[in-house]
Amino acid sequence: MKHCVNAVLAGVEQLDADTFAHVYRAPEIARDARPGQFLHIRVSSQTTPLLRRPISILWSDGAVHVQTLFKVVRSGTALLAEKREGGLVDIAGPLGNPFPAHDDLDAVMIAGGYGISPLFFLGGMLNPDDGRFVMARPRRRTLLYGARTAEGLYLRDRLADKFDEVIYATEDGSLGARGPITGVLGAVLSERSNIALYACGPTPMLAAIINQIGFHKTHSRTPCWLSMENQMGCGVGACLGCVVKTRDGFRTTCKDGPVFAARDLIL
Ligand SMILES: Cc1cc2nc3c(=O)[nH]c(=O)nc-3n(C[C@H](O)[C@H](O)[C@H](O)COP(=O)(O)OP(=O)(O)OC[C@H]3O[C@@H](n4cnc5c(N)ncnc54)[C@H](O)[C@@H]3O)c2cc1C
Repeated sequence: MKHCVNAVLAGVEQLDADTFAHVYRAPEIARDARPGQFLHIRVSSQTTPLLRRPISILWSDGAVHVQTLFKVVRSGTALLAEKREGGLVDIAGPLGNPFPAHDDLDAVMIAGGYGISPLFFLGGMLNPDDGRFVMARPRRRTLLYGARTAEGLYLRDRLADKFDEVIYATEDGSLGARGPITGVLGAVLSERSNIALYACGPTPMLAAIINQIGFHKTHSRTPCWLSMENQMGCGVGACLGCVVKTRDGFRTTCKDGPVFAARDLIL
């Protein structure tokens, strides 16, 4: 269910020059939020920018607070970064469809850059101690996390209780394997069966994942869910600014997504 609230910005953390984590006090949203869903945030009380900005939910405590992680790109996110603790922010959410849970499968998650957010949330909720997902058995949670450089791998000190295993890759080789994270995926797919795949990151990364599983003997039927982070306008499926091509025609990221089955997407 969607709520629109004036939430108190209860915490601000600056992770690097242009990356911030926000904590909002928004019990209605915190109670309903699921991994893969996003907030639609009004960044200014002025008429420009008029459109809200979509930011994934990084974490919800299920009761009072929701968190986000965002990078300053241009004017909208720069205004968001100027918000100060204790102020009010107009947020709508939780929006979009969450990642489905696969009760009987281990989870392999692939994140690129700030695409870590929905997977951080999913990894935490799949933790048997969290208690919010009822699972048939404790599942192994593996995170494959890539970025251009080690600085683009966020929240590294907070991944231990969300994932059983974390494998890094950086394009400059500053941490983990050198090259794109999808370079590591092949080896993981070859070693594992009975898994569900979940991914969020830049579109070329998602396209590479679709390619890899499509051609893999063992995994052509493995459930694979991709969260898209393309540009978005209205957030309610009206403006069609965020459509993606699927085997079933064009679909909106905001209302039909942002999570899509890999087998349906044409990237
Ligand atoms: C589901 C989703 C989740 C996301 N999660 C995160 C996250 O967790 N962290 C993070 O850092 N970023 C995330 N992003 C990306 C983030 O929304 C953008 O970086 C942000 O909107 C940029 O805003 P800006 O004003 O700084 O940049 P600008 O480029 O100036 O503005 C982008 C805005 O322009 C408008 N716009 C541009 N093109 C179109 C179009 N074709 N149709 C309609 N409107 C358009 C939209 O309002 C868009 O939000 C997410 C995006 C999506 C779709």
